[in-house]
Amino acid sequence: MPEPALTVEELLALDRRHVWHPYGPMPGRQDPLVVESASGVRLRPADGSGELVDGMSSWWSAIHGYNHPVLNEAAREQLERMSHVMFGGLTHEPAVRLAKLLVDMSPEGLEHVFLADSGSVSVEVAVKMCLQYWRSLGRPGKRRLLTWRGGYHGDTWQPMSVCDPEGGMHELWSGVLPRQLFADAPPTEYAQAYADHLGALIERHADELAAVIVEPVVQGAGGMRFHSPAYLRVLRQACDAHDVLLVFDEIATGFGRTGALFAAEHAAVTPDVMCVGKALTGGYLTMAATLCTSRVADGISRGEVPVLAHGPTFMGNPLAAAVACASIGLLLGQDWLAEVKRIEAGLREGLAPAAELPGVRDVRVLGAIGVVQLDHAVDMRAATEAAVREGVWLRPFRDLVYTMPPYVTGDADVARIARAVCAAAREG
Ligand code: PMP
Repeated sequence: MPEPALTVEELLALDRRHVWHPYGPMPGRQDPLVVESASGVRLRPADGSGELVDGMSSWWSAIHGYNHPVLNEAAREQLERMSHVMFGGLTHEPAVRLAKLLVDMSPEGLEHVFLADSGSVSVEVAVKMCLQYWRSLGRPGKRRLLTWRGGYHGDTWQPMSVCDPEGGMHELWSGVLPRQLFADAPPTEYAQAYADHLGALIERHADELAAVIVEPVVQGAGGMRFHSPAYLRVLRQACDAHDVLLVFDEIATGFGRTGALFAAEHAAVTPDVMCVGKALTGGYLTMAATLCTSRVADGISRGEVPVLAHGPTFMGNPLAAAVACASIGLLLGQDWLAEVKRIEAGLREGLAPAAELPGVRDVRVLGAIGVVQLDHAVDMRAATEAAVREGVWLRPFRDLVYTMPPYVTGDADVARIARAVCAAAREG
């Protein structure tokens, strides 16, 4: 291992002074952990304090763990051939293969793929597709979005407008963001009254609604809530009945996390537009995708401007696309469902004691996702330190301590993660 050019102290001093972190102040107030390398499910801190089992999969993405030989090889091979070329007027095998893989594995009817460079941009593209679709059909008044509260769709402008508007991450901008329509957050269990409420809202606003956009089955960063897949069928029916498009944001839920390849499958529903990201490249590189049906693509093609006017510089990045193909190959080449179910069972068993802790409101597990919800705001520093003492990396926030481990996490490490979640919930 080569000596780092900077000591840990020097790194932290420069970091504090110059580097923005997610939702962070400038200058930085808290010292992040300097991570030197990562392999398998373990992160290695630079201060020599000992490896940490990663309970976060780098925010849902590193499903195969780090430094995976197959993904490394795919990246190396592609790097030597071509790391990036513009996508305007050019195409290449990694992008084409990836598009075909995505179409083949996603719900029936999604046919066309826009290769974006981040999840937020894939949501921007989804919204643009929907608004342009209605404009092309001569209905430009249909340009609002409906979502349910408690959601999160990214940090760029349109996605921000459909994040949870109250107490959410973008509350600062309420009144400035485009004004969208919000239904209450979906209850966990199916409730006919709530289904009726959703249907009625869609019907009432159909003339101005371009699309309904939701995270199916699991609302992630907006609160880690789970809900009945039956609501997806309710949305599909109401959208069909009232001429509204349906967008599923599967950026967090995609690629097996909930125990289905895509959460839409729990309800056997095909959305008109679907966003994926995060685990798309196994967490190696920044890439996301927006898929749509032929109905949407044909609609746009019939418009006065028959093209989708979006073309980021790093669209279709060959390196990311090659790694994404390898990551999907790895996922589908194994019994991924058995692994996710194994982790689900381990989390259920390991998190059960958390339900008895004072200050714990709820414990829930679905697929390879485990959540402990407190009845108070978590003390992030105390909770993180408690997890680190157990040898685990977690990132608690708001009233939540949660984990979504890589699918390659062994049983002993799943148990260790669960112990760390309990410790963080107790001490946070
Ligand atoms: N949608 C969902 C459901 C997400 O969880 C996220 C990321 N947390 C995004 C969109 C935004 O993706 P990105 O951070 O890659 O822009």
